[in-house]
Amino acid sequence: MEERNFETDAIRAQSERTPYREHSVPLYLTSSFVFDDAEHARALFADEMPGNIYTRFSNPNNTELIQKLCLLEGTEDGIATASGMAAMYISMASLLKSGDHVLASRSVFGSTHQILNIIFPKINITHTYADLADPGSWESKIQPNTKMIFVETPSNPGLDIVDLEWLGKLANKHNLILNVDNCFATPYLQNPAKWGAHLVTHSATKFIDGQGRVIGGAVLGKKELIKEVRFFARHTGPSMSPFNAWVLSKSLETLAVRMDRHCQNAMELANHLESHSEVLKVKYPFLPSHPQYALAKKQMKSGGGIVTFEIKGGIDRGRKFLNSLKMLSHSANLGDTRSIATHPASTTHSKLTDTERMAVGITPGLIRISVGLENIQDITNDIDQAIATSSL
Ligand SMILES: *Cc1c(COP(=O)(O)O)cnc(C)c1O
Repeated sequence: MEERNFETDAIRAQSERTPYREHSVPLYLTSSFVFDDAEHARALFADEMPGNIYTRFSNPNNTELIQKLCLLEGTEDGIATASGMAAMYISMASLLKSGDHVLASRSVFGSTHQILNIIFPKINITHTYADLADPGSWESKIQPNTKMIFVETPSNPGLDIVDLEWLGKLANKHNLILNVDNCFATPYLQNPAKWGAHLVTHSATKFIDGQGRVIGGAVLGKKELIKEVRFFARHTGPSMSPFNAWVLSKSLETLAVRMDRHCQNAMELANHLESHSEVLKVKYPFLPSHPQYALAKKQMKSGGGIVTFEIKGGIDRGRKFLNSLKMLSHSANLGDTRSIATHPASTTHSKLTDTERMAVGITPGLIRISVGLENIQDITNDIDQAIATSSL
């Protein structure tokens, strides 16, 4: 059979129907499942046959979501988690042990930093950060006890990009697990497994849900790695609720059309801001002025839904700008239908020192826009009026 395309898989990758012949996947709100008989129960617990026992282990909605995500990411197996952070945590904690070392990109999500900086040292798992902008330094930072490389690309909020093909080769050369947080790109724009990633992690809370409703995550990847992740999750309990899995599976049906519009709006906003006299610098992966434009074009289908810009006047102007917005939401989330503005220097990254912020590209006046699905003219109008008002 011909291979089907992404949009079709996202809609038609449906598991079997129940005897009710429902068209849309039903919701299975049940904490446990009944056994046919003693032999069936024994066989399920012995992993001799597939089937559901208890929703902490598996549930039809979670399985359906994961099968679809695997198809879309090109991975063999996976597990749905209660949040993106549960995915990040178990993808590392299940495969690492005391004495192991992680090589991570410096620009990772705030809570991922906290896991590496504060939580893992308690169990003697260490890390070294490397800079996305300086790939030449990565190999020399690999230690004899390094087990995993963890990166985010594009990064939050710096929108830096790392060459996944190069990194996949580096990981294989040193026998390391390459773990890629693909939250910003989504499976529609980028498939890290295609470039050699062994694990692909997601916060499904962002563009995958896309409507600001649920928290969720996923760890996808090689069968033998997911086996370990599944064992860890089954016994520690960060499972996704079936309701969230059901919502997220519906969300995937519209991921492609939503991402197309997010990207189109973001590209238009980036172009608009680049010619604005009160804006110092605009960053967007598909802007020719992005330092890694060619690389973004190589490994991403489009530039994504996040644009950052540096407003003239530093931190005070940045705060004034946010207070002057009339339509855009001022919120810490991203990947929503509603456009959202964030000022990382005074909020999400305020705990870093100035030097640490600069190292990951967070300048004092940096504004992050998660470009939503409203009409682009209304988005740019609101941003323009807030830029004008904040200069007064
Ligand atoms: C939001 C986010 C996470 C964490 O996901 P939650 O669903 O909030 O737990 C991890 N990585 C990236 C890049 C994110 O943006």
